[in-house]
Amino acid sequence: MQFIDLKRQYAVLKDGIDKGIAAVLTHGRFIMGPEVEALEHALASVAGVRHVIACSSGTDALLMPLMAWGVGPGDAVFVPAFTFFASAEVIALTGAIPVFVDICPDTFNMDPASLEAAIQKTLAEGRLTPRAVMPVDLFGLPAHYDAIDPIARRYKLAVLEDAAQGFGGRYRGRVAGSLGDVAATSFFPAKPLGCYGDGGAIFTDDDDTAQVLRSIRNHGEGRDRYENIRLGINGRLDSIQAAVLLEKLSVFGIEIEMRNDIALRYNERLAGLIKTPRFHEGMVSTWAQYSVLAEDESERERIIAALTGADIPSAVYYRIPMHLQKVFAHLGYGIGDFPVSEDCSRRILSLPMHPYLTETEIDRITGVIADAVGKGK
Ligand SMILES: *Cc1c(COP(=O)(O)O)cnc(C)c1O
Repeated sequence: MQFIDLKRQYAVLKDGIDKGIAAVLTHGRFIMGPEVEALEHALASVAGVRHVIACSSGTDALLMPLMAWGVGPGDAVFVPAFTFFASAEVIALTGAIPVFVDICPDTFNMDPASLEAAIQKTLAEGRLTPRAVMPVDLFGLPAHYDAIDPIARRYKLAVLEDAAQGFGGRYRGRVAGSLGDVAATSFFPAKPLGCYGDGGAIFTDDDDTAQVLRSIRNHGEGRDRYENIRLGINGRLDSIQAAVLLEKLSVFGIEIEMRNDIALRYNERLAGLIKTPRFHEGMVSTWAQYSVLAEDESERERIIAALTGADIPSAVYYRIPMHLQKVFAHLGYGIGDFPVSEDCSRRILSLPMHPYLTETEIDRITGVIADAVGKGK
């Protein structure tokens, strides 16, 4: 069994993907070709935003908006302690300081109360200027923007939505990818909308920001690529990846529904065995990961061993919260600073999740878990 079975998806989409790639080989505009522009239009229409800037990766999609806003040394950007490393990494890359915030136990997303506490503490210390907040739509579930946005406005912080896992999900009638002043997503192959290499996209309604982002994407270009008016990066996207994404976009909505059906079946099968993720009123998750919480670390390791023994892959996202990562030791955080993040990092476990997972497979996976927690029939 595969954790994320991309071959089954390719079997469904093979004709269109092969044709799209062949077209790029024929026209030869390998980087930022016509497929990239078509993709940007298609993504803008899915998200309901004015501008999409397709780019080289989810990491670069997070880095470039911070650059565009001039975030740098002396600035603070607020980010969950429980996320993929890139969320915090890009903040540090600009020279700013990632200020960590705890998460809510039933969403794994930024806790608005912890955010406000972190902002006030930062202001009281007076060393850093709060500039932005980066909520993460972790595992595909949108963060709690109705609570986060008023806090951001009160303290004049820009909101950068990390929708690397969440793009395409829904929050109270809006689409994830449109929930911040700027949003970023990733097309890493294992993400809900993935290509066959690295890729990403930035979303915004702001015309000026979009123009600056397009410049940064190509080494800070001005009127043309040999006039450089700011520092940028090589943040461009390959045409072949855009061709693959255009084809995958045609089934993306259906695949999100399939993922929700699978999550529902998992929840039914695992009820009473382990703490399952909730469906939240007014929100649709893309189920980038289906993550459960074991009683404690030893039960988790027992389940992982049982799954491995049955040839079922599983993964721990994430074993080390950001504030305890070695690279951030100089920030002075310690064990106990973010209790929910730390607790989740010890108990969390993600199970195989992709749209083409069969009921038989789900039943086999949940059967092994039932035995491992001592509640098998
Ligand atoms: C995958 C991911 C990223 C980075 O995306 P890449 O395309 O791998 O650079 C950033 N944030 C989160 C939450 C992610 O899951």
